[in-house]
Amino acid sequence: MKIIFPTTCPSCSEELFKPEEEANWRCININCPAQVIERLRHFVSKDAMDIRGLGEKIIEELVELNLIKAIPDIYRIDFNKILDREGWKEKSVSKLKEAIESSKQQPLHRLLFGLGIRFVGETTAKKLVEHVNDISEFKEWSLEQLINVEDVGPKVAQSIFDFFHSQKNMELIEELKSFGLNTKHEKKTVAQGKLSGKSFLFTGTLQMKRSDAEAMAEKEGGNILGSVTSKLNYLVVGADAGSKLEKAKKLGKVEIISEEEFLKLVT
Ligand SMILES: [Zn+2]
Repeated sequence: MKIIFPTTCPSCSEELFKPEEEANWRCININCPAQVIERLRHFVSKDAMDIRGLGEKIIEELVELNLIKAIPDIYRIDFNKILDREGWKEKSVSKLKEAIESSKQQPLHRLLFGLGIRFVGETTAKKLVEHVNDISEFKEWSLEQLINVEDVGPKVAQSIFDFFHSQKNMELIEELKSFGLNTKHEKKTVAQGKLSGKSFLFTGTLQMKRSDAEAMAEKEGGNILGSVTSKLNYLVVGADAGSKLEKAKKLGKVEIISEEEFLKLVT
């Protein structure tokens, strides 16, 4: 039996497109209702902008009524038109209004995640915003800078790079700013010191408390990583170190030092 794949989108009837290295056919029509609904659903979801009261059914209704076509439209819904609709009461409308209004103050990582950049999950979004004061700074970032962010590999970096180099996307961000959405973040201030630009990871049982050791490194400008990767400079090894030590040895690039050697570096 032969399986026949659809060649047109079930939602908008546009021809489907299959990226070379992917298994699935995709609809790339930016105005495709199914895509629009999916994008909106992600934007308002709990881990993104968390706009309660804008569930999937309601999004579908608002899209159908042409009240929403894209993300920024959420912030200019004509609520009078909703009030005329069956099933909507003044109270539910004012609740929705409030939820939309307060979403403008969400922290930046939620907005970044909500934009639905391919491969950018919640954790990656959180890591990324630590490096900027405003979301538009990403427009100036090179691929290399992106790859240097913890958690970001080449595939993710390319996707972020492409997103912020699209005129349309930058317009969308400007539009959201004009509605008063928070696009700012307080960049983590990195202390300057003997360990500036160096990354550390502690493993095994140390003489001192691990949190104290980490604080010492950070105070001198060191960066604490969560796992052994090629971005790690120093693995500080205490007693009974296990898999992290093995991995660092295998990588061959990581300097493996003792707690004493670390103390010499830091003091
Ligand atoms: Zn479609």
